Amino acid sequence: MSNLTELIHSIPVDPQTGAIAVPIYQTSTFVQEAPGVNKGYDYARSNNPTREAAEKIIAKLEKGAVAAAFSSGLAAIDAVIKLLKSGDEIVAVDDIYGGAFRLFHKVYEKFGIKVTYVDTTDVQAVFQAITPATRLIWLETPTNPTLKISDIAAISEIAKANHCLLCVDNTFASPVLQQPITLGADLVVHSATKYLGGHSDIIAGIVVAKTQQLGEEIKFYQNATGAILSPFDSFLLIRGIETLPLRIRQHNANAIAIAQYLSEHPAVDKVFYPGLISHPGHELAKRQSKGFGGIISFTLKDDSIEAATAFVTSTKYFKLAESLGGVKSLLCHPATMTHKSIPAEKRWAAGVSDSLIRLSVGLEEVEDLIADLDHTFQSIQNVERKERVEVA
Ligand SMILES: *Cc1c(COP(=O)(O)O)cnc(C)c1O
Repeated sequence: MSNLTELIHSIPVDPQTGAIAVPIYQTSTFVQEAPGVNKGYDYARSNNPTREAAEKIIAKLEKGAVAAAFSSGLAAIDAVIKLLKSGDEIVAVDDIYGGAFRLFHKVYEKFGIKVTYVDTTDVQAVFQAITPATRLIWLETPTNPTLKISDIAAISEIAKANHCLLCVDNTFASPVLQQPITLGADLVVHSATKYLGGHSDIIAGIVVAKTQQLGEEIKFYQNATGAILSPFDSFLLIRGIETLPLRIRQHNANAIAIAQYLSEHPAVDKVFYPGLISHPGHELAKRQSKGFGGIISFTLKDDSIEAATAFVTSTKYFKLAESLGGVKSLLCHPATMTHKSIPAEKRWAAGVSDSLIRLSVGLEEVEDLIADLDHTFQSIQNVERKERVEVA
């Protein structure tokens, strides 16, 4: 579903009342006429009309058969891993979301699930990491925070040939830009906390399955383990999705202008943005997605924790916070925030240098955002000069 009219009108009018907004069915249970005779709902963990509406819209957006909504992105990832059993193996993208790494390493390893991490931008490396026990390939593309791009279609061929499932965490791209199922993925997950919700007001997760059968397995774990999305948060998610294509269009346009500005700034060393011709994944990103997204990372010529800290505490509109994908622009400093627990050597090897700053470009006027960055570059220059005078 790429058409905005189609998206807006796929959000159902309430059949009971004609309400144009999807009502919040804030109820735990549903009255039955006789045991097992009901209107399609019996208990709200198993199904709820508000959650069901959100799930149906997202299944359509991602071109899957079934979607299941969870109380967080991590709960969604957890439901996918529950498809596996002890002895199974996963081949995963090496710069995976930190919370997914923690879940795999600290929770599932002790149940006998082994994970091998590879640079999935190298299709051959994925192929070589597969063993007879591999059941699942796990991709994120683009990745956090260096926005590496992996070839979904090529890796789906490897997955099929080796009887593995391919799951893509599509949080950074959103289904407006990239639909992994159309490129051969079996499963898609989202932290709907980010672009799908889009307003920094919910924690939510989604799994979309390509087939009805796989979808039913995911729905089984959704009900059996119970980490469901609440009716109110489902309502907010639907409300966010109504404007998803418009928001993504503007996030993209703003990010392209800012990436260009940063790449020309004398205080900037590297810019990581798939929309720049200099990005190693540029051609692939152009081929498999309709745009380059709203996340940009960059490093400073003064590659120090101090310079980056001065920068991230001096902006006016870019607010210092973890998370991304909302209306308001955010920035974060991975070395001291999201990637703090990773040893420095390992962090540097992954391209996350001391001064790397990640921007989540919001929906403000792009001129104001660029002016904010410009003032900030000037103000941190002054900080440095002052220190040098003191030393002298
Ligand atoms: C935030 C995030 C998650 C985790 O989602 P939560 O909603 O915070 O549980 C998973 N994957 C990616 C890529 C994310 O950015």
